[in-house]
Amino acid sequence: MSQDWSKDIRSEYDVIVIGGGLAGLTCANMLARGGHSVLLLEQHHNLGGLATWFKRRGHIFDIALHGFPVGMIKTCRKYWTPEIANMIVQLKGVRFDNPQFSFTTTYDREDFTRILQEEFKIPRENIEGFFDTARNMNFYDDQGMTTREFFEKFFPGRDDVHRMLMESITYANGSTLDDPAITYGIVFSNFMSKGVYTVRGGTDQFIGKMREELLKNGVDIRTKCLVEKIVIEEEKAESKQTAGVIANGKRIKSKAVISNGNLLSTIHKLVGDENFSENFVAETRKVLLNNSSCQVYMGIKKGERIDYIGDLLFTSAAENFDPQELCSKNTTSRTFSIYYPQTRPGSDMYSIVASSNANYDDWANLSEEEYRASKKELIQRTLDALEKYIPKIRDKIDHVEAATPKTFQRYTLHLSGSSFGTKFEGLKVSMGLPKEIPGLFHTGSVGIIMSGWLGAANYGVIVANDVDKFLS
Ligand SMILES: Cc1cc2nc3c(=O)[nH]c(=O)nc-3n(C[C@H](O)[C@H](O)[C@H](O)COP(=O)(O)OP(=O)(O)OC[C@H]3O[C@@H](n4cnc5c(N)ncnc54)[C@H](O)[C@@H]3O)c2cc1C
Repeated sequence: MSQDWSKDIRSEYDVIVIGGGLAGLTCANMLARGGHSVLLLEQHHNLGGLATWFKRRGHIFDIALHGFPVGMIKTCRKYWTPEIANMIVQLKGVRFDNPQFSFTTTYDREDFTRILQEEFKIPRENIEGFFDTARNMNFYDDQGMTTREFFEKFFPGRDDVHRMLMESITYANGSTLDDPAITYGIVFSNFMSKGVYTVRGGTDQFIGKMREELLKNGVDIRTKCLVEKIVIEEEKAESKQTAGVIANGKRIKSKAVISNGNLLSTIHKLVGDENFSENFVAETRKVLLNNSSCQVYMGIKKGERIDYIGDLLFTSAAENFDPQELCSKNTTSRTFSIYYPQTRPGSDMYSIVASSNANYDDWANLSEEEYRASKKELIQRTLDALEKYIPKIRDKIDHVEAATPKTFQRYTLHLSGSSFGTKFEGLKVSMGLPKEIPGLFHTGSVGIIMSGWLGAANYGVIVANDVDKFLS
């Protein structure tokens, strides 16, 4: 731990933001731009949360840079800078390959309509009906219909179509066929409007520019700084309010506290159930966590090159679409993100990141030896699968390592290493915090629209507006 993390720290701020994920960063930036004094505390040494990177033997590996909707450009232009927005570019080659179908797409409505008509022989009116219904879904809709029912309505009995429409979105926000249809429809329509986007320059430069902007706007950033407690004061009965935090053992005061950490640990651990009403705690107990992920990071030797095989490759050897298989420890369903040298202009390096969904419990209770062996197996299975697209891949790499749900938990403190925070029901609880305890806010992954790069950043904006109103 850094010796002088608290050097020159003020004793009081208008706002303390706990966590430097995309929601926390965006929220902090907006509030600082609005003239408030902001302290941002991040327990890791890097900012970005899940949207981060790490370096190994000359390689830079991006953790969560696979793709997001076009809306991220507008969000970055409006709430960050044109320079940051201009780093965002479209990914043209999205490829699907599994026993039921194989094609490359630009992943937008026009191309999906063509594929559904030509390859899957679906009547045009069903396709149009499906897209229009998905596009018109919004947050206030009836949440009774599940995604499974939504698919059955337009494509009855078509497991192959359900797979084509669902598998990639499960990677993009962790939602399943049994979640409310709006959790699917909103995210799917966001992607379908103009395809899939990424950052030219990589996560390191993207978050690096955000950091510069935060500093320029006066945000006091402290990394390697773990918040242990959110301080709640009670001057009189019934008048609880947020009074600051305890970070690395030091008390710092503020009028408002925004947690970008996991919603459930914010409530149960950082604040403590005793500070909330019974009803609120009961509501919180119903909130489910999203699943976690495994990743395998592969660095291609310097001087070695690989042919273009697409940017984002959704692959699986499962005969049929099986949501449980998707999260199982031996799943064959994985996404390969291929980072060509143009990802980081000026570099001649290639890297590949394979991601799969995972259940925390499959990894959490292994002995040290079993855990290591399971990681090795994960790596070997991933390399075997990649051979199909890049023959002799093992000869081309000079670095490979794996991350599991335990890794994600360790680096972001998300309970059970959840990749997308909580499920949808978490949103009501997240938004209800300031009504329970004035000055206490949460922003960050809570299902659908509020998770993923775009959702998290946009939720940061929404909460910044609420905090601004509270402070004034
Ligand atoms: C493997 C993987 C791949 C993904 N791929 C994509 C993708 O391609 N496209 C997409 O849109 N989304 C993707 N996502 C999801 C996306 O990255 C996240 O939804 C988004 O980045 C979450 O942002 P957030 O603001 O909720 O915060 P998080 O990223 O969860 O960050 C929270 C931060 O708070 C910090 N923190 C927590 N508790 C404390 C504490 N007590 N004190 C101090 N700091 C604390 C953590 O260290 C962390 O930095 C992926 C996620 C994973 C795991």
